[in-house]
Amino acid sequence: MAWAVFTGSGKNRRILLFDTRIARRGISEPVAVLAHEMGHYRMRHTLVRMVTGIGHAGVLLILLVVKISDLRLFEAFYMTHESTYAGLVFFSILSGQVNFFIGVAMNWMSRRQEYAADYFAARTTGDSKSLTGALKKLSVDNLSHLEPHEFYVAPNYSHPPVPSRVQPLERVETSELEQAGCV
Ligand SMILES: [Zn+2]
Repeated sequence: MAWAVFTGSGKNRRILLFDTRIARRGISEPVAVLAHEMGHYRMRHTLVRMVTGIGHAGVLLILLVVKISDLRLFEAFYMTHESTYAGLVFFSILSGQVNFFIGVAMNWMSRRQEYAADYFAARTTGDSKSLTGALKKLSVDNLSHLEPHEFYVAPNYSHPPVPSRVQPLERVETSELEQAGCV
């Protein structure tokens, strides 16, 4: 089992790496995973995710303020009087639809960031094979679906399916790394 995450800001930045099979895998794959997480930091993905997360919460709060007392909502549910409790229930129904579309956009952005961090790791370490190896083992450990439908990926996957990540890394290996003098 393995996972890694970048967290914190300023002097409290941390990369957490959890890997129960490090002795069997060797050090190159954990280094590739660390380089991927450093890529998130160098490209300010953590900051972007924090700002978009705050924006997301702001949109929902604005929606809550505007809609909790919207009489049309109460009329739509055949209510004859205004109720804060009922307004909260209506808001939860409405916010589910809004959240779906915001989630699609945020997942799309997150998957772009994963590709960018993969590319950063391959260029920085000069070794894309270790990252592809780590990704493949991770997908086996997690019993990941290798080819989910794109309509399912769009709202549900913050990380691209592993084959979609491996393909660009293999292209990096044959062209970019040679140009960069890494291999
Ligand atoms: Zn990542």
